[in-house]
Amino acid sequence: MAEPSGYTGRFAPSPTGPLHFGSLLAAVASYLEARSRGGRWLLRIENIDPPREQAGAADAIVRALGAYGFDWDGPTDWQRDAGDAHRDALRVLLSRDLAYYCTCSRSDLSDAETGPLGAIYPGTCRGRPRPQGGDAAVRVLTDESLVEFDDRLQGRQSQHLAAESGDFVIWRRDGLVAYHLAVVVDDHRQGVTDIVRGIDLLDSTPRQIWLQRLLGYPTPGYAHIPVAVWDDGNKLSKATHAPSLPASSPGPTLARALAVLGQSPPDGLARKALPDVWDWAIANWDLSRVRGRTSVPGS
Ligand code: GLU
Ligand code: ZN
Repeated sequence: MAEPSGYTGRFAPSPTGPLHFGSLLAAVASYLEARSRGGRWLLRIENIDPPREQAGAADAIVRALGAYGFDWDGPTDWQRDAGDAHRDALRVLLSRDLAYYCTCSRSDLSDAETGPLGAIYPGTCRGRPRPQGGDAAVRVLTDESLVEFDDRLQGRQSQHLAAESGDFVIWRRDGLVAYHLAVVVDDHRQGVTDIVRGIDLLDSTPRQIWLQRLLGYPTPGYAHIPVAVWDDGNKLSKATHAPSLPASSPGPTLARALAVLGQSPPDGLARKALPDVWDWAIANWDLSRVRGRTSVPGS
């Protein structure tokens, strides 16, 4: 047994559909990084967006991870059960005037400038009193500072939030917590020290670091792994009809995941018993083999 290391990683899928090969890569990389360092690895189902959830997907994800031999620490965490923690964080930001209510409709924002992350909120509702009745979103204040961090795989990243996103939504108009606030509160609540996830979330990270700073949370380490793409370069996703992971004989699929993650599994590993596949993978894991890569073949 490795020494307890204080490392805590996690996998945090949204139950918008079953796991596919692309989501498996994030699960495998976060799991092996945690286990190879003697750390903990948590599973959090990010079921905060009922309108986008697919019936049965959450259970299918948990079942598939079990069938593939992932062994998470503690019970599965369900993000929707953390509503009190999300609302507490919202209250903190509002009470410190770091966030404000926004009643702008989509058409109010149709003239807003668009940046790489979408429409840049022009700050219309800043400083307005809390609206009486009706639905309002909540936005967090951003300023002119540059948010920078060193990604372990993708190198130094920086984003100028005021110019690139503007004040962003942390609580949705439909009453649901927004992804950025939920993920930051939950990683803190669960003591996550290191985040290994897909590079499609790289440009979300500065907004999440911004929230960590405002809430006084430590910033975890980040490593954004390449996404799995089809031959035409499109990302494997529900929208591009990525097939769900084969339920039986996970060995070959796991071996393929290890191969595209640069781990060079030996011939024959795919046919070994699952515990042997994992033993080899943990003993030989080296995350730096995908350093600087942004995509890997998904088919
Ligand atoms: N739930 C997010 C997703 O499935 C991932 C969140 C994260 O890893 O930070 O895209
Ligand atoms: Zn507004």
